[in-house]
Amino acid sequence: MSARILSGTEIAAQVRAELSGRAEALATTLGRPPGLAVVLVGDNPASRSYVTGKRKACNEIGVRTFDFDLPAATSMDELRSLLERLNSDGAVDGILVQLPLPAHLDERAAIEHIRPEKDVDGIHPENAGRLLRGEDGFVPCTPLGVVELLRRSHISTRGAHVVIVGRGQLVGRPLSCLMLRKGEGGDATVTVCHSATPDLARFTRDADILVAAAGRPRVVTAHMVREGAVVIDVGVNRVGTTASGKARLCGDVDFAPVAEKAAAITPVPGGVGPMTIAMLLSNTLRAAERARSSTPT
Ligand code: NAP
Repeated sequence: MSARILSGTEIAAQVRAELSGRAEALATTLGRPPGLAVVLVGDNPASRSYVTGKRKACNEIGVRTFDFDLPAATSMDELRSLLERLNSDGAVDGILVQLPLPAHLDERAAIEHIRPEKDVDGIHPENAGRLLRGEDGFVPCTPLGVVELLRRSHISTRGAHVVIVGRGQLVGRPLSCLMLRKGEGGDATVTVCHSATPDLARFTRDADILVAAAGRPRVVTAHMVREGAVVIDVGVNRVGTTASGKARLCGDVDFAPVAEKAAAITPVPGGVGPMTIAMLLSNTLRAAERARSSTPT
């Protein structure tokens, strides 16, 4: 294997260590710890495992979590009234509703119910619009994590051809906006591919930086990657269980053969996933800092 492995686990640990100092300073000035409400509805095992990881990471750096584990039968009215309560709770700086919600709940309406200033997942239409316009706002954690991972790995996007496989609302689409922004972490030439893209390899082979965010196990194979490209694998696919009964994960990239050709590559697990959690912490501290600066003294 020739590629440099971009360890999200290691980089996220550095980010968390920096954030921990900021959280401590904020707790002193606020007179309370920064707070994140984490809402989980139902019992989807993948969602539960993500939520557990997020809560643990918060508590480790001094962010207090307010945990709401609601039954799958929760009604839209119940969810809405919880969000209203959290919107006006001064101890809650950020609100995270773990997606997907059970099918009977209106995901879009739920998201629109979160105050944009507390939308640390960056999915409220106001924040999505700000990102599209290149304005300041909350950006979804996974694309933010990809940009931060590249930045801290000293891989410049300026002038690079970035090809993103996937145009989802949480990853591909916002990442394309981020990479198009002027300045550090942006200034890329971006191509976005999706399920209707004919001859995907024609585009991916031209990438300096290839980002796979399709949610299809090993859809990116070695013949689709240019020699010396940087490959970022966002995909998390559950492909069976390990001997100890845990979910067996794989990315959207056929790791070993692609690593023979790439200059750098992220593993799954241990790549983009830990960066996503680190960016959630970062967004939460930002929300707390903004709330503090807008509070009259
Ligand atoms: P999504 O909303 O379902 O979007 C998937 C995108 O991939 C769609 O645009 C789809 O095209 C495209 N696609 C699917 N199959 C394709 C193919 N064979 N060729 C080209 N494009 C294809 O998913 P998402 O929320 O963006 O998530 C994408 C992946 O990232 C998933 O594996 C998810 O688990 C993972 N993820 C990881 C993290 C993390 O922290 N590591 C966080 C969030 C998500 P159409 O639009 O045409 O359907």
